[in-house]
Amino acid sequence: MYRSKTCGELRMNNVGEKVTLAGWVQRTRKMGGMTFVDLRDRYGITQLVFNQEANAELCERANRLGREFVIQVEGVVNERFSKNDKMPTGDVEIIVSALNVLNEALTPPFTIEENTDGGDDLRMKYRYIDLRREVVRKNLELRHKFCIEVRRFLDSKGFLEIETPVLVGSTPEGARDFIVPSRMNPGCFYALPQSPQTLKQLLMVAGMDRYFQIVKCFRDEDLRADRQPEFTQIDCEMSFVEQDDIIKTFEEMTKYLFKTVRGVDLGEQPFLRLSWNEAMRRFGSDKPDMRFGMEFVELMDVLKGTGDFGVFNEAAYIGGICATGCAEYTRKQLDELTNFVKSPQIGAKGLVYARVNEDGSVKSSVDKFYTPEVLEKLKEAMQAKPGDLILIISGDDAMRARKQLCELRLQMGSRLGLRDKNKFALLWVVDFPMFEWSDEEGRLMAMHHPFTAPKPEDVEKLDTDPASVKANAYDMVCNGVEVGGGSIRIHDAVLQAKIFDVLGFTPEKAQEQFGFLMNAFKYGAPPHGGLAYGLDRWVSIFAGLDSIRDCIAFPKNNAGRDVMLDAPSHVDQKQLDELQIDLRPTEA
Ligand code: ASP
Repeated sequence: MYRSKTCGELRMNNVGEKVTLAGWVQRTRKMGGMTFVDLRDRYGITQLVFNQEANAELCERANRLGREFVIQVEGVVNERFSKNDKMPTGDVEIIVSALNVLNEALTPPFTIEENTDGGDDLRMKYRYIDLRREVVRKNLELRHKFCIEVRRFLDSKGFLEIETPVLVGSTPEGARDFIVPSRMNPGCFYALPQSPQTLKQLLMVAGMDRYFQIVKCFRDEDLRADRQPEFTQIDCEMSFVEQDDIIKTFEEMTKYLFKTVRGVDLGEQPFLRLSWNEAMRRFGSDKPDMRFGMEFVELMDVLKGTGDFGVFNEAAYIGGICATGCAEYTRKQLDELTNFVKSPQIGAKGLVYARVNEDGSVKSSVDKFYTPEVLEKLKEAMQAKPGDLILIISGDDAMRARKQLCELRLQMGSRLGLRDKNKFALLWVVDFPMFEWSDEEGRLMAMHHPFTAPKPEDVEKLDTDPASVKANAYDMVCNGVEVGGGSIRIHDAVLQAKIFDVLGFTPEKAQEQFGFLMNAFKYGAPPHGGLAYGLDRWVSIFAGLDSIRDCIAFPKNNAGRDVMLDAPSHVDQKQLDELQIDLRPTEA
């Protein structure tokens, strides 16, 4: 028996007990004739005491312990003289009678503390040491709890957890596939699933009725803080349902998870639902952060053609937001905001502002082009009060200008402290457009994926005006993050073929890529629909993290590399030969 207790469980009622503990040396300190060692395991930290007078040899050995040595001790639980109320075990200590070094350790490359001195790359290279830090470990514990509760909830609703293969064929979901060569089928490749989308639909055709899976998905995309090349979805599908049934089920699950995992009661009220059009109009985003207001006000009537400002007179969109109490912003602060919206990522041409003074008068950066009456109208349209700052963005591409204003709104929300990580604002965004135009591809693309059903009343517009067709698709948004999304699916082979046609697939190409699905639909496919949650995003929101990386045990860095395993890496020529793959010489 290596231990009788963990390092997190001893309390006053254990005083006098003889115990054996095992763990890592967090730190040692010498004070007079005493040596104190903090012993750590996953469960907590317990203080060990060695007394020079009582046992000099043992105390000497304790003095030689290094950080992160793995040790085992035997001793008696004692009430501490000076208690530490910051630690759950802070009332007690162990008077050690036997010490056994199980394994020595090199000095770790960074400190195992909440605020470690290790930079990101170093922490990732030695992730097994990084994971010993309580802050990181807690995220994994949260993730575990989250998954357990997801399973508990879905099981109670009759969902079956079914695994789908990882080596599949390519299914387009908007990203690039990772592909895997097949030795037994030279020249052929598997693709790793971007999601189990078509497979879960086939499970519905198979009569499984309610499916879920906590599953790895793979997308070869450019990476950002909330993206990883492999990530985990809570993937769900249901038969004989409409959009409302799915929304109801998963709203209930969300409330359940908030309560059991995060200790937050979201109340009885159903979540807000915004149509995609409305979300874009009021917030310039299909995932608006609703923790604060600062809604867009369209100012085309007020500012276009009512003065000599050419930029506005040519704009396809002019919109403003009103920042309460910011009229006193300094020149420097306004320059910062202007530089922010003009930065390459955001790409606005400029920022126009107007301060509402204490006497109600308006002072703007474009005063010289407008009469005081127009500026008064601006104030009214914005419902601005004395002390407010009006910020205005315009552009010749309305959608782009809205997105720029959205970034500015988020920036102001952060500056004003309105994006509190302990506040949660959830909503559904519904009625997405079916298609979006891709300049890169020169064709319409599915906004969600090609298996999404159009609104029944829009089906006839597929021939005449496909860009105006709305989809039976929905996203769940929390604090400005898309945490989940899904749709009602097409279950009719003819309609599915029609969508492939609109998306520019020839019938032959559609058959080649999706014949398996369209054929399955000919053998009795039930109406069905579902969604998938991004597990990593959910957990990082619950944990209050800025990046999904810290809730993943072994994440990849921004270049998609695992710096600990040094992957991806080159393979032996022998492996390439077996796969019949010739590499082109890389340019030096
Ligand atoms: N497969 C979809 C996705 O990964 C989710 C869904 O439609 O269920 O986004």
